[in-house]
Amino acid sequence: MLSKEIEQYSELLNQTARYACDYIQTASQRPPFPGKSSIQALDTFDGELPAAGTDAAAVMRSLHEIGSPGTTGITGGRYFGFVNGGLLPVAHAAQWLTDVWNQNTALYVMSPTAAKLENLCERWIVQLLGLEQGTAMGLVTGSSNALICALSAARNELLRRQGYDLPQMGLRNAPPIRVVMGAGAHSAVFAALSVLGIGRREIEVVPVDHYGRIDPQQVPELDAHTLLILQAGHVCGGSFDPINELCDRARTAGAWVHIDGAFGLWAAASRKQRHLTAGLEKADSWSVDAHKTLNAGYDCGIVLCRARNALTSALQANGTYIQYSPQRDGMSYTTEMSRRARGVILWAVLKQLGAEGVEKLVDQLCDHAEYFADCLKKAGFTLVNPVFFNQFMVKCQTPQQTRRTLDAVQHSGICWCGGSEWEGEPVIRISVCSHTTTKEDIDRSAVAFQKALLEAQ
Ligand SMILES: *Cc1c(COP(=O)(O)O)cnc(C)c1O
Repeated sequence: MLSKEIEQYSELLNQTARYACDYIQTASQRPPFPGKSSIQALDTFDGELPAAGTDAAAVMRSLHEIGSPGTTGITGGRYFGFVNGGLLPVAHAAQWLTDVWNQNTALYVMSPTAAKLENLCERWIVQLLGLEQGTAMGLVTGSSNALICALSAARNELLRRQGYDLPQMGLRNAPPIRVVMGAGAHSAVFAALSVLGIGRREIEVVPVDHYGRIDPQQVPELDAHTLLILQAGHVCGGSFDPINELCDRARTAGAWVHIDGAFGLWAAASRKQRHLTAGLEKADSWSVDAHKTLNAGYDCGIVLCRARNALTSALQANGTYIQYSPQRDGMSYTTEMSRRARGVILWAVLKQLGAEGVEKLVDQLCDHAEYFADCLKKAGFTLVNPVFFNQFMVKCQTPQQTRRTLDAVQHSGICWCGGSEWEGEPVIRISVCSHTTTKEDIDRSAVAFQKALLEAQ
């Protein structure tokens, strides 16, 4: 680059940093969901693909002036929608530096720094969650992809044990395997299974209790051809399947257990919450997000697999130009080849927080969920479930009132959360998932809820 170009590049980044700081400073005043005029303003982006280019500084200006107001306030303290995680400053800063490097982390030879740090993440995450040393980790976009990676390892391994080599022989003539999971499983699990050629009708769906947990009495006999999928953290009410009991049964039967713990697996990092995931180390594979509970920023998902070979052989790609090395080649653990350097960001978060910081973050989210639920009970709402982890659901006296109250909350400009259905009735679901949420944020939100409830009478 010419020195003039470098100067322009630096100025572009400096200006962007000023936009970013402006966004951060105004985050708490911003509505958690953009107002009508901000959404209408997005139409100014409309237009045909321009024939001539635009100055980069002008592009960035319009992104900030028009784009920023149209965003949802996930980084603020009063956004409780879905299980959308907040963003730790160190994660954000590490993203920026990683962006400047523009590393492709497919292979060690493409980025020694990224490979080094991804390797450390593997050891640290395995330790943090209390898994067996040597467990393999891959970094992907999110739990949806982590599920595809882990479940393909499981499928292939269950078939290999029957003497069938799926990567060579293909799915068409494969002997059957069984899939057993709870009726409360996340839709991403169904999607991953479908990608892997396992249809809905083939799945043995186990009934769940009122909290959405697998009823162990109703789990069918497991065998060595079975893939049992458990959930650590129901996306609505936060409940956990009985992991310890079912892992024991699966182990005795020789079944493969996968645990989908997109946000809830982090319970294992907290002494107060660990009882929820007791026995998780007895499973064979796990999927968890760093972009939810850990607040490491989008997109950052983690796949873990006890049998390293099962994971790498399921995802292995070959090509004469691929230069594997004795060090870590990140692509071996994922469906992707070219990938951004998520390990650098994850490493920065883990290094900054330490095990104690992760525990504190998890506990804070859970305590705040508990406090929020208490406030809403006092405000006249009915708690649908006890609070599990960082999630809970409330409802009003009638389904119609619940729907109207949710609508009023979503338009309150104070806080935002989503809705769902639970046992055939509409509910309001709340997820406390940002490190920025304070008790004051919850107090303000509870007042907004109370007002919405009155409006919905
Ligand atoms: C969010 C979630 C997923 C999907 O994860 P993504 O990171 O959005 O792909 C899967 N399972 C559970 C339980 C979840 O909460």
